[in-house]
Amino acid sequence: MNKRTIAVLGATGSIGTQALDLVRRYPEQFEASCLVAHSSAEKLFSLVREFRPRVAALAVEPESLPEDVRFCEWIFGEDCAVRALEAAKPMDALCAIVGIAGLDAVWTALDVCERVLLANKEALVTGGRLVMEKAARLGRPMLPVDSEHSAIFQCLQARQGNPVRRLILTASGGALRTWPAEAIRTATVRDVLAHPTWRMGGKITVDCATMLNKGLEVIEAHHLFAMPPEKIDVVVHPQSVIHSMIEFEDGAVLAQMARPDMRGPIGYAMAYPSRLPYGAEPLDFAQLGKLTFEAPDTGRFPSLAMAYAALRTGGSAPVALNGANETAVAAFLREEIPFGRISEVIEETLNLCPVRGIAGIGDVHAADAQSRAIAEKIIRRRSC
Ligand code: NAD
Ligand code: MG
Repeated sequence: MNKRTIAVLGATGSIGTQALDLVRRYPEQFEASCLVAHSSAEKLFSLVREFRPRVAALAVEPESLPEDVRFCEWIFGEDCAVRALEAAKPMDALCAIVGIAGLDAVWTALDVCERVLLANKEALVTGGRLVMEKAARLGRPMLPVDSEHSAIFQCLQARQGNPVRRLILTASGGALRTWPAEAIRTATVRDVLAHPTWRMGGKITVDCATMLNKGLEVIEAHHLFAMPPEKIDVVVHPQSVIHSMIEFEDGAVLAQMARPDMRGPIGYAMAYPSRLPYGAEPLDFAQLGKLTFEAPDTGRFPSLAMAYAALRTGGSAPVALNGANETAVAAFLREEIPFGRISEVIEETLNLCPVRGIAGIGDVHAADAQSRAIAEKIIRRRSC
């Protein structure tokens, strides 16, 4: 069997390291030919020693390169992911950089690679229409890695040309699901990072706690599956066993279930249309006993409704939503604002940001920069 070469963008992160675990298990199927990370140099060096890529890259140049990692081509700088893809020309790009920082890499991956394996949801939230148009124009499959979108993608295999009435995204509800509103306001970084069912990077774990993550995923689903917002619903399902569902016009609902382990959706994208066993225990339904569902509480978690509103507004509104959120989450993680301020900063930024049309990637970056500047001002005004 011919090996597939794969670039792992965000190689030191939660998704990246789990993808590399699958490469480690299936060396006859995959070759990690390009590894990219932000600044965790020591971690990347040890991955380079193990996986021996052709190209490695760091956004922040380290003080020195150890002798034993110099065999590959090294690229440094903020645009390192783009340049690394152009140098390595892998068959597949696993786009697992966090935030809009990964958008340009997704854009380049569409030019350079045969397939894009997409974890970086912020790239679709901000550049979704442009990215999907380019993927269609160039005939590049966009394989979802986000567990909900992978679930929907898997369910859609049974569609056989039938129209889909509704997508139903499940949400764990995050670390604060059962907390009263007053306690949510002052939840600490430690409280918020204690996610009940998934182990993920810091930013997405905060997004789960505000439930904006589900809002970003609604926008992601809108672009990936060409569904209008009114046909995308969210239901809270704390056990994270049903990863999402599709409903047909006769009322039949298909659900995809598995233990919450990201190696499932990552492996499905990497080996599509094959499946990669990774040692997951079978689901034990008798032991699970019951699966529960509840409506999202938009009073305690207002961000989800803001994401629907931004999607309906269109233009630069989802870019501003994302830019304000990235800015506010970073401030929360630096303990500069209380948890409850995150959704307020998003709302105030959206109220102040003019909505503009998006004709190209340059417009996305301009709208992003503007929303960040406004969000920073809002944060500073309140904290002085
Ligand atoms: P993480 O913080 O654990 O890892 C992020 C990775 O991106 C790191 O390797 C970091 O070095 C790299 N990176 C960050 N900025 C960079 C830059 N400017 N240039 C180059 N590399 C950069 O994040 P994560 O949890 O792995 O999430 C990655 C993406 O996948 C996010 O968009 C997230 O929403 C999505 N996602 C994650 C999960 C999960 O289980 N972790 C699930 C679904 C979707
Ligand atoms: Mg998800």
